[in-house]
Amino acid sequence: MDEHQAPPGRIRKVVIAGGGTAGWLAACALAHQFRDRLDITLVESEQIGTVGVGESTVPPIRTFHRFVQIDEQAFLRAVSGTFKLSISFEHWRRPGDRYIHPFGATGQGTWAAAFHHFWLDSRRRGMPSELGDFCLETLASRADRFSLDTDPQVNYAYHLDAGLYAKFLRAQAERHGLVRVEGRIEAVVRHATSGHVAALVLDGDRRIDGDLFIDCTGFRGLLIEQTLQTGYEDWNQWLPCDRAVAVQTESVGPPVPYTRAIAHEAGWRWHIPLQHRVGCGLVFSSRYMSDDQAQAKLLRDVCARPLRDPWVVPFRTGRRRQAWNGNVVSLGLASGFIEPLESTSLHLTISAVVRLIQLFPFDGLSPALVDQFNAVSRAEMEHVRDFIILHYHANQRDEPMWAACRDMALPPSLEVRLQAWRERAHAWQGADELFRVDSWTHVLLGQGIVPRQHHPLARALRDEDLRHLLRAIREPVERAVEQMPSQQAFIDRYCKADAAVWGAPSAVR
Ligand SMILES: Cc1cc2nc3c(=O)[nH]c(=O)nc-3n(C[C@H](O)[C@H](O)[C@H](O)COP(=O)(O)OP(=O)(O)OC[C@H]3O[C@@H](n4cnc5c(N)ncnc54)[C@H](O)[C@@H]3O)c2cc1C
Repeated sequence: MDEHQAPPGRIRKVVIAGGGTAGWLAACALAHQFRDRLDITLVESEQIGTVGVGESTVPPIRTFHRFVQIDEQAFLRAVSGTFKLSISFEHWRRPGDRYIHPFGATGQGTWAAAFHHFWLDSRRRGMPSELGDFCLETLASRADRFSLDTDPQVNYAYHLDAGLYAKFLRAQAERHGLVRVEGRIEAVVRHATSGHVAALVLDGDRRIDGDLFIDCTGFRGLLIEQTLQTGYEDWNQWLPCDRAVAVQTESVGPPVPYTRAIAHEAGWRWHIPLQHRVGCGLVFSSRYMSDDQAQAKLLRDVCARPLRDPWVVPFRTGRRRQAWNGNVVSLGLASGFIEPLESTSLHLTISAVVRLIQLFPFDGLSPALVDQFNAVSRAEMEHVRDFIILHYHANQRDEPMWAACRDMALPPSLEVRLQAWRERAHAWQGADELFRVDSWTHVLLGQGIVPRQHHPLARALRDEDLRHLLRAIREPVERAVEQMPSQQAFIDRYCKADAAVWGAPSAVR
């Protein structure tokens, strides 16, 4: 055996198919962590391009960046990024209504009862306030402010330009020795006996052999589905939207420190402010709205000059039955997609990449580890799915799509959560679950589900003590927000991107 060749079964050569955000996230993390142990190649086709969306994130992206030693200021300058403290849900419960789902902690509970029980009891006693009044990120969102210098510190994520982010990750990965190959994958060669993938054949008859393949080819799932026919679990019965039309517009004001999710008669619209432009898109159900209607509505509602032509993105909500099948691990859209509400897709990709690194099969594929990977992937996706279904289901809107969402049968896992909330205001965060108790609480209340009771412990406080407790939480938060600059002022000082960064079109299509 030649000295560079791995013994049979050993994994030495990793091939990443696809260079969208998922491909480059995987490339960056694997090259950073395993540059001395693996040969890693990424194949992408500029001619095919990427999906061109995916610009709003959740806070764990910061942990990932620390893990791969990405400097925050350099990153934000490179991706024309802004800060995200929350999501503003507009017209969801009913037209005219608005609530904020913040990333930070709300109030202060005890070990026996979360804060919202005390807050619910204060409302019962006639003390007026909103739950968000006790959350730094909500107050800062309402005031369009941002700072990293407050005490307590804010919990935050980013808005980023998807094309620039892929470029930034590519530079990191190539610095660690990753090899990028430009080309179109035209065929996939399989081992005659195991059926595992052996090689990718590119245009021009080039062949790339590998031991482990990472499928990041987007919705096509070139390896995981078109080759291995792994199967897909469809979630359209719970999540009605199946298309989006996206556009980029000029900014007409300073960036707000939150993503806007604005419900409409047949779906919702996103508004993601970057330093140099706004990413917008209309998510809709093709049963209730046509592409032409959606495009016309989007261009009417964005109230800003488009910077490029809108483009339609069809999608199918659900998950690949096995994210990891044989020697193919699917990541990103190839592994499934829930829908963009709550901006979880990049997070799920990052989480899967970290899991792959933790379970990496250097000595050969292990069915037990593959099962473990798939079980956690499934649980993570189902958790996010349930949280998103909640937004659709709990509504008081009149239009046919919303009425159907109200009437639909829910997954049992969500049914249990709603029952626990309705009966006792009980919410929980299971191990490895993304959404915290505060997230459930803000969205449940924001969508108008009022619990019948809350924890009796909250009744034990005297009025005076409860008033004092609430004031002691609220006042420092208000003071912290008063000291924050506007998000624009903070960006100008901390991470202003040079205009040359966005000189070229941002997404390859
Ligand atoms: C409407 C919409 C809005 C979204 N919003 C958000 C959001 O706000 N936040 C979030 O976290 N996520 C969001 N997502 C998800 C997010 O866009 C994706 O998770 C992310 O962009 C990763 O995509 P990807 O890399 O898996 O696929 P793609 O971007 O589609 O990349 C696929 C890659 O595979 C390559 N490829 C495909 N076929 C071949 C071939 N034959 N040969 C060679 N190369 C090939 C392509 O060239 C490309 O490089 C959104 C998704 C949609 C549909």
